[in-house]
Amino acid sequence: METSETPKTLLEAVTFFSDEDRAHAFFVAMRWPNAVTCPHCSSANVGNLSVSRKPGQAGKPDKVRRVWNCKACKTQFTAKVGTIFEDSPLPLSKWLPAVWLVVNAKNGISSHELGRALGITQKTAWFLAHRVREAIQRGGGVVRLDGVVEVDETFIGGLARNMHKDRREKAINGTGGAGKTAVMGLLQRHSEKVPSSKVVARVVPNTRRATLTPIIKNVVVQGSEIQSDALPSYKSLASEYVHRVVDHAEAYVQDGVHTNGLENFWSLLKRTIKGTHVHVAPYHLFRYLDDQTFRFNERTENDQGRFVEAISTAKDRRLTYKRLTGKTDQGEG
Ligand SMILES: [Zn+2]
Repeated sequence: METSETPKTLLEAVTFFSDEDRAHAFFVAMRWPNAVTCPHCSSANVGNLSVSRKPGQAGKPDKVRRVWNCKACKTQFTAKVGTIFEDSPLPLSKWLPAVWLVVNAKNGISSHELGRALGITQKTAWFLAHRVREAIQRGGGVVRLDGVVEVDETFIGGLARNMHKDRREKAINGTGGAGKTAVMGLLQRHSEKVPSSKVVARVVPNTRRATLTPIIKNVVVQGSEIQSDALPSYKSLASEYVHRVVDHAEAYVQDGVHTNGLENFWSLLKRTIKGTHVHVAPYHLFRYLDDQTFRFNERTENDQGRFVEAISTAKDRRLTYKRLTGKTDQGEG
């Protein structure tokens, strides 16, 4: 949904959505463009219980509950049910500007900044930003690249002294040096068909052939041209692809073969992580990758376009606090 009502700038977004009624109406129109249907059974036979207020909270706009009841399956639901906003006590007047901020901040936004901008705690902002990142995540393996595709890998550094001993040794014995997390990137170069280049990036346990080859086969359409550096892990691609190699020991570009598109992406990614988030736990790195990839791939969209794109994927995706924090603590920005 894109109407003249949709805000165009951050200032407009914060102002527009600061009114909970307006934020709610906007989200409902976006989620159910034709008619409200039950998120449990998809029935359109629903009634609006209109506006009910929690006892003792009369008059407080952000405590207003907007509830429907389904006459088919006899359940009640709100617009948040089945979305990344479900179970969150935060009103949409906080959520929608948060989505705007996360998807449009050129170098990312830290949970500290986000918390200050929205008047919520850093911890709440951290969780909220990760939910937004979940919403904009493109499903693994769904994106397929063809034409001329650059393949490259990089290492994102955490400091070894921050890691537990066993993990530190694992990191040292793997590739990339102490505490570094390996990331693999694939970039489809722009062409007549595709006006701007497109990136897929993944956190990988190492850069060995057995790790990288299946990802390439999953993402890159067979018969495409792959350009990479001389890393031995990329040998053997020639059976299914046109594989052209640039030897970085000799030059950055050889006969039109280079990985400069990914070099550019890596520098944007590293600037974001270093400058904005300061420290990113390896377990959470893939979310920042999704974040950066989304902004990169949607870079020809304006702020409004990116926001609408993110919101329209916020349906049918949920990230619970348990799943989000299940494997690690949350000390990062
Ligand atoms: Zn129902």
